[in-house]
Amino acid sequence: MAEPVSTRPRGTEDVLPDETPRWRRVERIARESAARAGFGEIRTPTFEHTELIHRIGDSTDVVQKETYDFSDRGGRSLTLRPEGTAPVVRACMQGGLLGGALPIKVFYVTLSAFRYERPQAGRLREHHQFGCECFGVAGPVADAELIVLMADFLAAAGIRSAVVRINSIGCDRCRPRYREALLEYYRERLPDLCADCRRRWGQNPLRLLDCKVDRPAALGAPRSVDHLCPECAEHFAGLRTLLDRAHLSYEPDPLLVRGFDYYTRTVFEFAHAGIGAQAALGGGGRYDSLVASLGGPQLPAAGFGLGMERLLAALELEGVGGEPRAGCDLFVAGEDAAGAFDLCVQARRSGLVAEFDPLGRSLKAQFRHADRLGARHVAVLGGPSRAVSLRDMRTHQQRDLAPEDILRALADAGGA
Ligand SMILES: [Zn+2]
Ligand SMILES: [Zn+2]
Repeated sequence: MAEPVSTRPRGTEDVLPDETPRWRRVERIARESAARAGFGEIRTPTFEHTELIHRIGDSTDVVQKETYDFSDRGGRSLTLRPEGTAPVVRACMQGGLLGGALPIKVFYVTLSAFRYERPQAGRLREHHQFGCECFGVAGPVADAELIVLMADFLAAAGIRSAVVRINSIGCDRCRPRYREALLEYYRERLPDLCADCRRRWGQNPLRLLDCKVDRPAALGAPRSVDHLCPECAEHFAGLRTLLDRAHLSYEPDPLLVRGFDYYTRTVFEFAHAGIGAQAALGGGGRYDSLVASLGGPQLPAAGFGLGMERLLAALELEGVGGEPRAGCDLFVAGEDAAGAFDLCVQARRSGLVAEFDPLGRSLKAQFRHADRLGARHVAVLGGPSRAVSLRDMRTHQQRDLAPEDILRALADAGGA
């Protein structure tokens, strides 16, 4: 058994300095993609009132069984956010955005989300999401904009083989009829279903379609697309037309439902073959009732969320690296660590990346270190009459300079 003080909690991950450039690259591309489409960045607290999180659907597995609920020292019941959408709705409401000019378009990146799941491949108890939410647009153009944004983001990040599946699960008017059809279909099959499905049957029959164990039954089940009201059917057709116009290929998937109860009409999911058939990179959909159910105005909305750890795993399979490391402009070598420190401080203040050897190793060892760093120039202190010899590591040219001339010489050499 590992010591609790020296190991991280199960289902969490550290990101060490070698790994952060991969995160930074994806975060940069996410911000650029969202900003190009007019989304503004939003940040919300890590925890919310338990009531808010549980309002998003107590028949949702995530909310029912997987939230981190706790009481603080004041006796308040709080919950670590399991997803981004409900907290973002709450924040936009509280910040007065939803009463202003429409549409409201916000995104978040590296938002931590917490679910008490069995830690298995790709399932973390703390993971991070990039997501976009759009409030105030009832038409399918918002759904299409989000799907295309996510597809273009994935492509820009370097994912070449993502597949998007889409479905419509209807609205508050047509879904009850579909729900009845599902209950009817599954009623006689109940004894053969897994325990989860037997529980879901009465609560949230749409989730039966999503069961990995009972897939054969799902394949023969009634389809939501055959039970849509005229408005929902028109919305779904409109979405497909818009995706065609954007030259985005997609697969209609009548079995696609998402993990949260709040979706209406459109749902979509991006999959990547490399990280396992069941592991979606992310997805989203429309949630026209959620804002009102959280105490806000009757406002149509749609959004997506994408798991950054899964995306990074997929990018690794695609052979995509990270943000390039800032090169070392100047390495200051010499036996006089204090003198090296002085010159480094000046160089850094002038905007250069500068390093020195604080351990005072041999000159030979310091040059090896400078090589490892890929230093563009090495300044060697301690020459005759205070002169500093400056070596260009690419051209191997070397010259002696007064210490006060070093920075200007580097600026002239284009080292800055
Ligand atoms: Zn409908
Ligand atoms: Zn099942």
